[in-house]
This record gives sequence, C-alpha cells and structure tokens, in this order.
Amino acid sequence: LEERVFNFAAGPATLPANVLKKAQSELCNWHGSGMSVMEMSHRGKEFLSIIQKAEADLRALLNITEDYTVLFLQGGATTQFAAIPLNLVKPEDSVDYVVTGSWGDKAFKEAQKYSKSKVIWSGKSEKYTKIPSFDSLEQTPDAKYLHICANETIHGVEFKDYPDPKNGILVADMSSNFCSKPVDVSKFGLIYAGAQKNVGPSGVTIVIIRKDLVGNAQGITPVMLDYKIQAENNSLYNTPPCYGIYMCGLVFDDLLAQGGLKEVEKKNKKKADLLYNAIDESKGFYRCPVEKSVRSLMNVPFTLEKSEFEADFIKEAAKEKMVQLKGHRSVGGMRASIYNAMPLAGVEKLVAFMKDFQARHA
Ligand code: PMP
Repeated sequence: LEERVFNFAAGPATLPANVLKKAQSELCNWHGSGMSVMEMSHRGKEFLSIIQKAEADLRALLNITEDYTVLFLQGGATTQFAAIPLNLVKPEDSVDYVVTGSWGDKAFKEAQKYSKSKVIWSGKSEKYTKIPSFDSLEQTPDAKYLHICANETIHGVEFKDYPDPKNGILVADMSSNFCSKPVDVSKFGLIYAGAQKNVGPSGVTIVIIRKDLVGNAQGITPVMLDYKIQAENNSLYNTPPCYGIYMCGLVFDDLLAQGGLKEVEKKNKKKADLLYNAIDESKGFYRCPVEKSVRSLMNVPFTLEKSEFEADFIKEAAKEKMVQLKGHRSVGGMRASIYNAMPLAGVEKLVAFMKDFQARHA
C-alpha cells in the first residue's frame, strides 16, 4: 500500500485502501467457503447473502424505502441511456432533457431513438459551466419524465438542488456523485449510476426505480434491459457481475462505518473547498470555468493561464505520485476527480504541489 499513488482518475477511480485490503484478505477463501467470490454460483446461499447485504446497506445509506426497487445491472450507465426510455415511455411519448454537459447530451441522443425526446435547456453555448434556474425551464406539458445528469463528470457541474417535473417524474444520472452526499430519493422516479467512480469497479450499474414505474417496457426492449424481468429475478435473471457487486457491498459497508452519507459529504466538501480555494486564490494562475454555486464536489476541472505549462504540470505531478490529472480530451486542461475514496491527504498534497508549481512558473 505504501507504493500506491494518489489517483485522480475520473473512473475507474481510486477505491478505499481498507476495502482493497479486505477484498485481498478474502480473495482466495471467502468466509470459509473455500473459494473466492469470483468462483461461486450466483445462485448459492453465499452469493445471495452478499447481494442481499449490498442492497440492504445501500438502502440504509440512501434511506431507500420499500416503494423503490434496487437493481444491480450491467452495461454501464450508457446502457441505461436506452433502457430508461424503453422502460418508461412509448415511442410517441414526450420526454424532456436538461443538458448540462456531454453525458446528458449522450443520454438525450440515445433517448431520441425510443421516444420523442427534447432538450429543454442546454449549457453548450456557455461551454457547460452552468445549471439553469429551474423557473426558466420550459417543460413540455405532457413530458413523461425530466432527465438530468446530477453531476457532469467532464465539465464539473453539479446540481445542488433538483427541479420539479411539471408532469412526469424526475430521472437522474448520478454516475459520478452517487453516494457522495445524502439524496432525497423520494424526489426521483429513477436514479442510475455506474459503480466505477464512487462505489466499486466498473461492470456494475445501479438502478433505483419507483416500483409503480416498473412493468411498462416497450415490446422491443431486450430482456436484459427490462426492469420488470430484472426486478422479478432480484437482479439474477442471468449471471450478474458477482465480484463487482461484492466490491460495491464492501464499499457500502465502509461508507456506513464512516457514519453514513452526511459524514461522507462533510469530508467531500472539505476536500473540494481546499482545492477550489487554491484555484481561486491563485490570482488567475489556475482557473476553474464553472460557476461557483454549481461546482462539483467530485470532479474539479481547471486550466493554467499559461496553458503552455499544462503538460509539465501533469508530468511533474505524476512524478510525485499524483496521477491521472489530465482533463478530458474534449475540454483539455486538468481535472482532479476527488471521489469519496480520495483521502484528504491526496488533495492536500495536490494543493501544495500547485502552490509550488505556481511559485516556479509565475
Ligand atoms: N454518465 C456519467 C455522468 C458518466 O460520468 C459516465 C462515465 N464516465 C457515463 C454516464 C457512462 O458510463 P459507463 O461508462 O458506465 O457507460
């Protein structure tokens, strides 16, 4: 563990060191079963206890009531871009998308194939640095749902509050801020998230859906994408990503042990404040383009006023064991992803490096 780096990747992302150690200690022989979780039948009592505990712990973390079904699926959040309209609406139904970044845009484009989807607000012309005021949203009167991306991973824009859909339900992609803070699940008809940022390895996609919305899939919906079939089979219609679900379970357990999501949010705010303050107090040497009130606690994009030094910044940071700081290829600059599992020490080290780098290049 001493040789581990501070990994600021956007996802797959750093996992808690104690969770990795626990997984290591259980790797070859899980709880006396004589085998690893990777080798078990997904229908045996051992794995059933793992998936059931993972679900119970997630329900405890987010206060998910029995009105909601929790699904552990595959295919990433990208598959949900299609599964959501396929399950919730008919091809002729209207649905609204608020597009605050590239992921929301991708979700919208996929939904166009299976519904009458409309972008009712886009931040593209302002380079995705804002969240709209909710009063200004011109929602389609009969829209079956309103889709948002709660945290745009590439642009670093995060909803701090949520709009009320006029007609249908609220649907949110929480891939990059899932379990990073308390969320009132009852405001949403459906929440979905890929696991690989805050809660586990890639390969697991979590869907939290209000039960009354399940069971209306379009006829063409592939069986794997049909929430009703997945719900009736407790996410075990086919072979699930067993090891990934196990890892998510270890992370949920760890988040509960930290005191739950209120405590986790406090830590995340502290880390984000430290980093944003360093940027804002650099007298323009570092810049974050995102409007202050909607800056993400998870993904912090920033640039250098002297952009010719950006490559050096990334290279030198990597030499000091702070890796994956390059911004997404579509926006350039830098991006520090500081998910739940990024320790405060990692952000402190980055901020110290930033100050030193500035002193040497000012
Ligand atoms: N939505 C958001 C907000 C994301 O950050 C990502 C992945 N970076 C996706 C969707 C796509 O997720 P996946 O790769 O799991 O399909």
